[in-house]
Amino acid sequence: MSPVFDDLVGQEHIIGILKSAVVASRTSSDSQEMTHAWVFTGPPGSGRSSAAVAFAQALICPNQGCGHCNECQSAATGGHPDVEVIRTEELSIKVEEIRELLTRVAWAPSIGGWRVVVMEDADRLTESAANALLKAIEEPGTRTVWLLCAPTLHDVLPTIRSRCRHLQMRTPSIYAVTQVLIKCDNISPTMADFAARASQGHIGRARYLATNESVRSIRKVILQLPLQLGSLAAAFQAAQNLIDLATEEANASSESRNEKEIEKLQEAYGKGATGRGMATGAAKAVKELEKEQKSRATRMVRDSIDGALLDLATFYRDVMLVQSSATESMINSDMRDEIEGFASSFPAHAAAQKMSAILEARKHLAMNAAPLVTCEALMCELARK
Ligand SMILES: [Zn+2]
Repeated sequence: MSPVFDDLVGQEHIIGILKSAVVASRTSSDSQEMTHAWVFTGPPGSGRSSAAVAFAQALICPNQGCGHCNECQSAATGGHPDVEVIRTEELSIKVEEIRELLTRVAWAPSIGGWRVVVMEDADRLTESAANALLKAIEEPGTRTVWLLCAPTLHDVLPTIRSRCRHLQMRTPSIYAVTQVLIKCDNISPTMADFAARASQGHIGRARYLATNESVRSIRKVILQLPLQLGSLAAAFQAAQNLIDLATEEANASSESRNEKEIEKLQEAYGKGATGRGMATGAAKAVKELEKEQKSRATRMVRDSIDGALLDLATFYRDVMLVQSSATESMINSDMRDEIEGFASSFPAHAAAQKMSAILEARKHLAMNAAPLVTCEALMCELARK
């Protein structure tokens, strides 16, 4: 029953809850099992938005989430009239967007029994946006379900979270991620094991790493950085290298996407169509799209820098493991010799300090600190003996 939930790796504890909610949603609308507002929390890559989308599918599918009917498919791709998936490429979701959303979801469901809103980044709501949303959650339309996703419960306004049922996703085990890569993505066992370790249970990143040679080589260069921090000048250079590599990685994935989007938009306006109104309309829309793409690019570079810092943290984690002779759970086993050499001359306990410095830098970046300055400060700290 409900195969849409099968892709949620290592989340058996919440799948049971969601399945009972789906059953309850069909029998009576005011059952304990089925509530109107849910919040899914979990670290990046734990699949919180996949869980919310699967739940949306199961709610509107005549077969409780078969995964292949029209309802299931259109809900997943954003084409279902009763399912709204709010994904943002911006750093924040503004009150105007929420107001627009609220007018869209005000009417009763058109096909299925429920109107479902999945908000992938509820932590990006501005305060006024969150307050506008709060009103809707307090007085939900009888057939509207809100599914909010955020890294932790603290990222959601207390007044909102107190009205939601909370589901905490778990970071799947290395083993579980490896199995998914082998079975669903046809990746070789050795590569799957490497990617699952390197991405620390982040399934999306694991898949990306396993299937993308250039991402793997960028990661390799990042992991060499701690070995090159001999002087202050070298630390500044390392910071610049990290930013350049992260930008390169982000650009590679956004360029082809940008071109495709612009092409599609021009097609929608009828490429080659004549008439002045048509031409200005298209030009304006393209300009707006380019603006959106630019802000998405900024966010992708930030995400990519964050990924690079996470990789860097795994280096020091491995140094700690080597120093305490617990190498079997080493992440970067492909660099064993370099890491062992580094660990032998590195003061005990210092690796833990370096890891917290990296964590601190990630926090600053998440609060919109300037990337280069943050990385320079970090590299100087990492270079300090
Ligand atoms: Zn279905």
